[in-house]
Amino acid sequence: MYKKLFSVLLPLSLSLPSLAVAQSGSITCNGTSSMQTRELANDLVQMATWVGEPTSVMDKMVENFGPQLLAYFSRSPWPNIQERARLAKVPIMMYHDILPQKEVFFDVTPQEFEEHLRLIQKSGLTPISLNQLITHLSTGLPLPEKPILLTFDDGYGGHYEFVYPLLKKYRYPGVFSIYTSKIGQNTGRSHVTWDQLQEMAADPLITIAAHSVTHPPDLRALSEDKIQMEVMESKRLLEANLGIPIYYFTYPTGKYDARVVKAVREAGYLAAITMDDANEGFAGQSEDLLAIKRFGQSRLEDIISQAWGGPKLPTWSRGFNFSSPVQRTETTIDNTPFILISGGKPITIHAKSRYQVQEIVADTEAVAAVDGGFFSLKYLDSNVMIGPVLSQSAGEFIPGNNSENRKLARRPLVLISSQAVNFIPFDPIKHNTLSGVKADMLEVTDAFVAAAFLVKDSQPQKAATFANLYTYEVPRHRAFWGINQEGKPTIGVSKEPIDSVALGEALVKAGFRDAVMLDSGASTSLTYKGESQVGYIPRPVPHVVALVPTQSVADACVLHRAEIE
Ligand SMILES: [Zn+2]
Repeated sequence: MYKKLFSVLLPLSLSLPSLAVAQSGSITCNGTSSMQTRELANDLVQMATWVGEPTSVMDKMVENFGPQLLAYFSRSPWPNIQERARLAKVPIMMYHDILPQKEVFFDVTPQEFEEHLRLIQKSGLTPISLNQLITHLSTGLPLPEKPILLTFDDGYGGHYEFVYPLLKKYRYPGVFSIYTSKIGQNTGRSHVTWDQLQEMAADPLITIAAHSVTHPPDLRALSEDKIQMEVMESKRLLEANLGIPIYYFTYPTGKYDARVVKAVREAGYLAAITMDDANEGFAGQSEDLLAIKRFGQSRLEDIISQAWGGPKLPTWSRGFNFSSPVQRTETTIDNTPFILISGGKPITIHAKSRYQVQEIVADTEAVAAVDGGFFSLKYLDSNVMIGPVLSQSAGEFIPGNNSENRKLARRPLVLISSQAVNFIPFDPIKHNTLSGVKADMLEVTDAFVAAAFLVKDSQPQKAATFANLYTYEVPRHRAFWGINQEGKPTIGVSKEPIDSVALGEALVKAGFRDAVMLDSGASTSLTYKGESQVGYIPRPVPHVVALVPTQSVADACVLHRAEIE
């Protein structure tokens, strides 16, 4: 039953690193989707259609692999770095010789080196391989939370004698850049032998990169023929003697120009590493895959706290349905009557001032809307909100005021994209910038802080969770919105006063998977097809959550639940 699934998903996921370096074709996902993407999408749809029970396995597979496949197929054309990877901060540390007696300032003793490894371990960093980094840079697939890459230049004997055993001890990957003319020689400093290199090259922890034949101080100063010899011959010799493909080149002393890059491309390398003391940076800040930046090892301590694997992939849960018709229902739960409107796609509108909700949506596509997040009572004739707000109607991220933000800590931050909605605890510092919000949902189109969680993962919230919400225990008219069990956005109000705990319990019974409170009391308002749904004239508001009807989604890159079904 799962044959088709495995034939499509597993080979791709298992071979990501090797494919990533072995294939430089560009497959983009915007506009005219490539045949491959469309076929893959069709396969996924078909698989999901064929597989009946148990669906939970299917759900997990699609949830787990879907976003990665999507990222894989939206990789940037080689040698470009993908937009998502540009946000990450992956430090690549550069070491030279490791030996017991230092001779120059950049030498490191084995004791100092092990101190570095301990610091890396203690700080919660995960050393990654160069293959992992290149896959990440070209696809944007996230890395471990705090990644780091360790590199060792020039093939010193100390690399085999001290570094390699320590990397094995900590199970940390490393990259060794070798120039071939000194292999096995002792010229004041010892160099690795071919036997030692063969042993290291056979270890999955180790990546061998070519670093020219003779290590010229500046490849740019050489003739075209000489450049070509240095770049190609070093690859050929390493491949012939080690029996492995050599995918990466490290520029001697970091020096390169267009002629050097051309030789590197023509030799068939898939990426190249550089160094520049005056212009160090994280991997994602590199111009492209043919000039990947590094930091000198002495920077380890100041760099380590900044390491970040990049924004999470968009959730690709099968649980969202933004393409069903917008429908209004009235229902009574535990003696409280409710109006619930679900379907369509959720958006927010941040108006220029305060209006009735039906006035705000009057000239828009929205079929229904409920009053949105916190707004300031101080500025009666303004649209000032409390907490940060991003609305696709205004297209501008407006940060909140710091002292007010602090009071909103851990209240629900509502994140909306064209494919998903996420309710996460608000972090007053992190979430007061657009980049901080994007770190939790890169494709975010709308964001604001709501009053309180009512339902989380189909569970009502207990009284203790409302502790700092004013009058949470008092029966009031209350406005809310969330996602129901079918994945549809749903907005609503209670037609009678109700307290917060009872409201959460009622909404679970009404079929909400997640729900947040938007407002309560005199400004609670709901509109449907131009008509107010409440029996009073509510106070005007500057912000709404609205439902807009959606046509069928034609983009092959967006596989909604509805299509998979
Ligand atoms: Zn070097």
